Amino acid sequence: MRIDHLINGQAVAGRQYFETVNPATQEVLAEVAAGGAAEVNAAVQAAKDAFPAWAGRPATERAALMRKLGELIARHVPEIARTETTDTGQSISQTAKQLVPRAADNFHYFAEMCTRVDGHTYPTPTHLNYTLFHPVGVCALISPWNVPFMTATWKVAPCLAFGNTAVLKMSELSPLTAARLGELALEAGIPAGVLNIVHGFGADAGEPLCAHPDVRAISFTGSTATGHRIVKAAGLKKFSMELGGKSPFVVFADADLDRALDAAVFMIFSNNGERCTAGSRILVQKNIYADFAARFAERARRITVGDPLMDTTIIGPMISQGHLAKVRHYIELGTKEGATLLCGGLDAPELPAHLAKGNFVKPTVFADVDNRMKIAQDEIFGPVACLIPFEDEAEAIRIANDTAYGLSSYVWTENIGKAHRVAAAIEAGMCFVNSQNVRDLRQPFGGTKASGTGREGGTWSHEVFLEPKNVAVSM
Ligand code: NAD
Repeated sequence: MRIDHLINGQAVAGRQYFETVNPATQEVLAEVAAGGAAEVNAAVQAAKDAFPAWAGRPATERAALMRKLGELIARHVPEIARTETTDTGQSISQTAKQLVPRAADNFHYFAEMCTRVDGHTYPTPTHLNYTLFHPVGVCALISPWNVPFMTATWKVAPCLAFGNTAVLKMSELSPLTAARLGELALEAGIPAGVLNIVHGFGADAGEPLCAHPDVRAISFTGSTATGHRIVKAAGLKKFSMELGGKSPFVVFADADLDRALDAAVFMIFSNNGERCTAGSRILVQKNIYADFAARFAERARRITVGDPLMDTTIIGPMISQGHLAKVRHYIELGTKEGATLLCGGLDAPELPAHLAKGNFVKPTVFADVDNRMKIAQDEIFGPVACLIPFEDEAEAIRIANDTAYGLSSYVWTENIGKAHRVAAAIEAGMCFVNSQNVRDLRQPFGGTKASGTGREGGTWSHEVFLEPKNVAVSM
């Protein structure tokens, strides 16, 4: 299979191609066009040319096209989920039941939202002030390899629905489903040039896209290091930066432990642990710590690692050999730093012969982790849990905030006052109380500190995809 760029509604061949592989088997899935400045320039020009007509269409017309695209995605869930699972190694139970259906929901949701953009009025005795919201123009949308289809649609849907045009750049490690998105967008009737896709590597395609003077806004999801590079290269533009995380999952002694254990396991091991909002630092109050650690490790040992296309698999392969090496490095480091390995580790999981070359790692649990250890400070982005004991509420908050990151957080207690106090005190963009991460499309999604800037979701997406203008009329 060959994957080309999508520029102005046309498949555009690459000057060079690279391979994308199935991380469970290393089988080559496709040859993918490797874009550079020339393709970026052509795509931005196409988006710029398409912008006036698209922005000028009534929101109800754009909404109808967004709905049509949502319906097409919903109709193709099994096919898209299979492609996504084969390209990324994320289990089919997640892609087919959660992630691809949610991508369809993103289009339905923002179809509704774009017809409800309303302004404000600030009347004074001398002036009537009111707000107009304009689309910003050409937007660069840059997506990582984890949950790539859902993340791309989380950006494309509001961007287009609000009247902007886009150049989408997927991760070089997971380009397949976005290519399908481009085809379905055209099939839905979205005009040529409104959604363009340039494939390729970050430095070759991503950086010139972000630096392009005709790009007015950048919605980026990826690592903190890349976020820094983009801000430097891009200059003065609107930004939404959804970056890395090392989120605390705080369990007090008075929590409903069975539910907390289930949620803790889900938040670090589902999606292969390759999840920005992973509850990767599990803080447990000392008087329940030993019991919690034993029960958590017991659950982790029962997790099925294997073929991501099997419905029963929870953990599939890591996205790439390079990423597997990174995860393994941290497992080795954990032992060197003095943490106690409760389960998992460096031994390869037992797997059928066809998966022998896959990037697999066992779910790994470290206990007695000191929050200053590198395994507790660095984002591992794999199925590696760190259990950290704490004494009381004050210490839980101190440890929770002792991190460069601030994306998500989780608090488990039956004491309602404590729940609110701790939720307020944790430095993070999101806090879930007695709950795993449950997404509501209206909520502000994003982080603080090294986890990023800006929020997306609901009216929060206005920040990046709409430009407010105040009009003051003299009375
Ligand atoms: P990455 O930063 O390596 O790459 C992300 C994207 O940026 C890719 O498309 C890549 O090609 C592109 N890129 C790389 N260098 C670039 C440059 N100089 N200019 C422009 N684009 C460039 O991240 P990744 O490894 O693909 O994804 C994992 C990271 O993403 C983790 O840190 C994870 O926490 C984060 N993430 C965050 C969220 C969130 O919502 N906060 C969600 C998912 C993933």
